[in-house]
Amino acid sequence: PGKKVLIVYAHQEPKSFNGSLLKIAVEELTKQGCSVTVSDLYAMQFEPRATRNDIVGHLHNSEAFNYGVETWEAYKRGGLSKDLVEEQKKVQEADLLIFQFPLFWFSMPAILKGWMDRVLVQGFAYDLSKAYDGGLLQDKLSLFSFTTGGSQEMYSNKGIGGDIRYVLWPMQHGIMHFCGVKVLEPHICYAPENVSEEKRKEMLTAWTQRLKTLWKEEPIDCSPEWYFK
Ligand code: FAD
Ligand code: ZN
Repeated sequence: PGKKVLIVYAHQEPKSFNGSLLKIAVEELTKQGCSVTVSDLYAMQFEPRATRNDIVGHLHNSEAFNYGVETWEAYKRGGLSKDLVEEQKKVQEADLLIFQFPLFWFSMPAILKGWMDRVLVQGFAYDLSKAYDGGLLQDKLSLFSFTTGGSQEMYSNKGIGGDIRYVLWPMQHGIMHFCGVKVLEPHICYAPENVSEEKRKEMLTAWTQRLKTLWKEEPIDCSPEWYFK
């Protein structure tokens, strides 16, 4: 109770399976006494492109534009665009970040990738030698909750897609761990489009059940071995 959760949600359709997973998380966590904020990226028409528009006012170097340098400098002088500042404030306040999305091309939808690209600015999320365990977003947890088109067998070690952990490496380790955020076990609902209504209901119940004991979970040991052993 009292914990703050930010759910970054990337699906266009509230009636989708992802929409149902989001609704469950909001209801269950609110019931526990958590305060829950949702960034509904499509509804917000969130800008995924990393451009000059993210910097308000003058550029550090107007001769040759460097997005990383410019956003870092803008962050330091309070010159990032309003939508980024708002998202950073939500991240700063959160104890737990949940990312809810359908798997797109072995990755996250572009709108969510754009959120990562634009919100996790140098100076805010990491800094010169402040990365991985030293990242700036310490004492926070993250959880990737997503759905797939492919079945669990396809994403097993011997399956055509390879171990699902290969897909998790860039997101969990390359982004969250890099920023100092601890990582909880992912929550994966395989192929909701291709299973029975009964199986879908089971998957939704499993998510509710998991959320009930979420705060007792230990983060994973987010090292290369977890992914590639
Ligand atoms: P939906 O189609 O919204 O939901 C499935 C079913 O569940 C629907 O019939 C819906 O009505 C029903 N449902 C919703 N709520 C409930 C409820 N409360 N109770 C019971 N039933 C309910 N897949 C991969 O595996 N790998 C990839 O690399 C990949 N790349 C993709 C790239 C793109 C561009 C696209 C568009 C898709 C890709 N996919 C991939 C497939 C994608 O991951 C799946 O289509 C997606 O995860 C399905 O989730 P959804 O929420 O959209 O499902
Ligand atoms: Zn890691």
